[in-house]
Amino acid sequence: MSQSLRTVVTMEELFSARNSLPGTVGLVPTMGYLHEGHISLVRRARAECDHVVTSIFVNPTQFGPAEDLEKYPRDIENDTRLLENAGAELVWTPTVKEMYPDNFQTWVEVEKLTKPLEGAMRPGHFRGVSTIVAKLFNAVRPDKAYFGQKDAQQAAVIRQMTRDLNYPIEIVVCPIIREPDGLAMSSRNTYLDSKQRQAAIVLFRALTQARKSFENGNRDAESLRKIVKSVIEEEALAQVQYVSCADYDTLTELDTINRKALLSLAVYFGKTRLIDNFILG
Ligand code: AMP
Repeated sequence: MSQSLRTVVTMEELFSARNSLPGTVGLVPTMGYLHEGHISLVRRARAECDHVVTSIFVNPTQFGPAEDLEKYPRDIENDTRLLENAGAELVWTPTVKEMYPDNFQTWVEVEKLTKPLEGAMRPGHFRGVSTIVAKLFNAVRPDKAYFGQKDAQQAAVIRQMTRDLNYPIEIVVCPIIREPDGLAMSSRNTYLDSKQRQAAIVLFRALTQARKSFENGNRDAESLRKIVKSVIEEEALAQVQYVSCADYDTLTELDTINRKALLSLAVYFGKTRLIDNFILG
């Protein structure tokens, strides 16, 4: 059932709206251009908390200089409609100026977990992510915060930050929502032309093939990485950036899969970089 959604922009409006919410609050941070993946987090928050607060903020500090900050897709009208239907009560759409005023100079940095994978490919990315999420946590003071397994390393980094900085917030990580053909939903999928969109299903196919091998008893991490790579390399429009099979908690690469593992990848289709992952074990 939908209820009315209130949009707030300034920190002052956010504080006053937040203070009027009794009971538990679930926070769903997003960069907007919402799809069913984001909405699944809102629904989960709605089921578990008295109130759901979402934020829409395309956070400039998590984009590299050569990344897509300027052209990142935005559609606030559609976003608010989707949030209202999903039962969110409050959406905060802060401005860059208010989040990063002149002379801003304090950062939150998770050290080890941000070194491999996305952190290695996107220097400074996680410093931007952990800093903005800390700011959102401080402002909204949620009881629970919801993140997607789609961004597996981000979820791990936020969990670590929450523990290290003693935020009294439960981090809930929700499963990846996929298109019917298996492509993980992402705001960035809109960058793909129709041929690239068709080609992109190779990611799910490659991960599925490796998982089958794992389920058949293959515990050799390098062999699973090779399966993923070789399936993707059959697709001419795909350019592999990395394929990883790492310890689920520490994200260090494994030789033998003898504990919960994260099989993850980043692949380019033209200029569009997509990420995806499966959990093994
Ligand atoms: P973003 O707007 O891309 O920053 O994503 C906001 C939140 O939605 C993050 O916690 C993402 O991990 C999550 N998310 C994005 N895509 C999906 C998806 N396909 N399934 C589940 N969660 C997702």
